[in-house]
Amino acid sequence: MSKKFVLFGNPVAHSKSPQMQNAGLNHIKFDGNYDKYQLEDGSTIKEVFLQKGFEGANITVPHKEFAYQNADEIRGLANKIQAVNTYINENGKVIAYNTDAPGFLKAIESFGDVKNVLLLGAGGTAKAISLALQEKGIEVTVLNRSEGKLEFFKNEGIKCSSWDSFELKNFDLVVNSTSAGLKDEYLPAPIEILEPVLKNASFAFDCVYGKVTPFLALAKDKGCEIKDGEDMLLYQGVLAFELFTNTKANDELIEAMRKGLKGEI
Ligand code: NDP
Repeated sequence: MSKKFVLFGNPVAHSKSPQMQNAGLNHIKFDGNYDKYQLEDGSTIKEVFLQKGFEGANITVPHKEFAYQNADEIRGLANKIQAVNTYINENGKVIAYNTDAPGFLKAIESFGDVKNVLLLGAGGTAKAISLALQEKGIEVTVLNRSEGKLEFFKNEGIKCSSWDSFELKNFDLVVNSTSAGLKDEYLPAPIEILEPVLKNASFAFDCVYGKVTPFLALAKDKGCEIKDGEDMLLYQGVLAFELFTNTKANDELIEAMRKGLKGEI
């Protein structure tokens, strides 16, 4: 029987995940289809997932925490992150994973050896990224506009500060995980902080995909190698796809999914 996969979010209309996942399913001739589902009430996520007969799901904004709270079993780093982006139906049990974290690590592999990261933002994505870096033994410092969200990082033993108390030092890589630059032209931190940091850094990464944000433009101007969030989106999708289909992705499959993501197939 054909298997059904889905993306839960609100909104989901803009998402490129279905075209990426369906390109992968077609590539391996898997009997299944990946759709999107606008879910208004995140607390119903497990119920909807099971009732509609989905075998696997991705979860996006704003339901990742609800999805974590409602799963039957959480696997891997998602236990610490407390947010999940992937559900698998294992004999009627809902198993949850976070593939954003390893997807990010895969995306920054192209930079080579990174030892010391400044991470801008303290939202759900920053939690996933900081814990993934910490687990890999890469030093990470979180810098956020406000103090409020820093408690989580303090509890995990991750260095963090707000703009007011930031102390300048050298970082190899600067990552923007704030939503500044998504729809607006704001920088994710004051220029007085960013300029010296980026001058000393080698690489800059923005989780926003498909555009050169003001942050990436400034980083490029200061001599950094830059990268947007496309690979992060791709690899979180590839890792979810492996769980959905119980297969190991090879380079051809990854390229098919990239083409799907970019609307080229
Ligand atoms: P959250 O809403 O959880 O967190 C947003 C963070 O951004 C907060 O720390 C907030 O600071 C900060 N922020 C928002 N606006 C500004 C601003 N103008 N200046 C400075 N800081 C600001 O968002 P998420 O963590 O879920 O997502 C963050 C970004 O990552 C989004 O753009 C999203 O699209 C992207 N993303 C990309 C993925 C990919 O695969 N490429 C995967 C997941 C996310 P404060 O605490 O002070 O409010």
